[in-house]
Amino acid sequence: MNTPKPRKRVLLAAPRGWCAGVDRAVQAVEKALEQYGAPIYVRHEIVHNTYVVRTLEKKGAIFVERTDQVPEGSILMLSAHGVAPSVHAEAAGRNLATIDATCPLVTKVHREAVRFANEDYDILLIGHEGHEEVIGTSGEAPDRITLVDGPDDVTNIQVRDESKVVWLSQTTLSVDETMETVDALKTRFPRLTSPPSDDICYATQNRQTAVKKLAEEAELVLVVGSRNSSNSVRMVEVARDAGAPAAQLIDNADGIDETWLKGVTTVGLTSGASAPDVLVDGVLHWLTDHGYQDVETVKTADESITFALPRELRHDLRAGNPPHTTGPAPGPAPGPVATHSATRHPPQE
Ligand code: SF4
Repeated sequence: MNTPKPRKRVLLAAPRGWCAGVDRAVQAVEKALEQYGAPIYVRHEIVHNTYVVRTLEKKGAIFVERTDQVPEGSILMLSAHGVAPSVHAEAAGRNLATIDATCPLVTKVHREAVRFANEDYDILLIGHEGHEEVIGTSGEAPDRITLVDGPDDVTNIQVRDESKVVWLSQTTLSVDETMETVDALKTRFPRLTSPPSDDICYATQNRQTAVKKLAEEAELVLVVGSRNSSNSVRMVEVARDAGAPAAQLIDNADGIDETWLKGVTTVGLTSGASAPDVLVDGVLHWLTDHGYQDVETVKTADESITFALPRELRHDLRAGNPPHTTGPAPGPAPGPVATHSATRHPPQE
């Protein structure tokens, strides 16, 4: 008698995809376009997702890397990753009306950096060199901040006073790898101070917990996200470290290589904090067409956090009250503010 083949299935992570900070940033661009018309200049990708950026471009957003690429007097949106104070100063110098879409959880890390620098600490910032968020945070106190890009960097760190050293981190790192680095720092600097609360944000942590759960059963884990999305790349690494035989990062269904599915009965599917669910839906359709008919949601946390839109969108930027500043806008408190849903639909083309 033939043994029946096991049914092919998909384990769908929950939570996955857009976080409150990404939702707020994308909504901010859409609201600015609606309120002021095109073009709205955006410094850096508003969030690290190709689909989102292309969709907003079609609506009239123009993405630039530097403020000197923006015509004087224009409206400039700052991305969710945050910027150094020097960028606010440059924008003010060009008479740009800035809207700051920095995620409030990134702003929280900026404030910690400023506070510890004012208290004369040396700050060890755990993060990835060159990442936009790290550049922005480092710019808050360039003379006091040293980047630590993993445990191998720890040996060569020099500080002024070993009793006044604190660590902070980028919001989108691997939780486990960061703790390895922190342990190495504590061995080197036994009096190391820790930040008052986790810098790795709730969304990063929740998505990593969920992908670990998928890795327990899935032979292949697919993470929908763009290559420059730090949290998405970390999720692939976390899946592999948690024992998934294979894990791949894909921008969308077109990125799937059919050979990955050879002998695979269970596919785990999730997405990074900047990837809209419409892309996950496309992957699910693709998998259904390829015999993965059963879809089971694997829920590891509830998310209900939302953030208010940037304060600059609450008044008319062109009414003779330009909001440009020489420093970041105070913005909302880092805590949740229930003014709009974080589970809205992504921009549609
Ligand atoms: Fe904010 Fe975290 Fe989302 Fe980054 S991943 S935008 S820090 S909520």
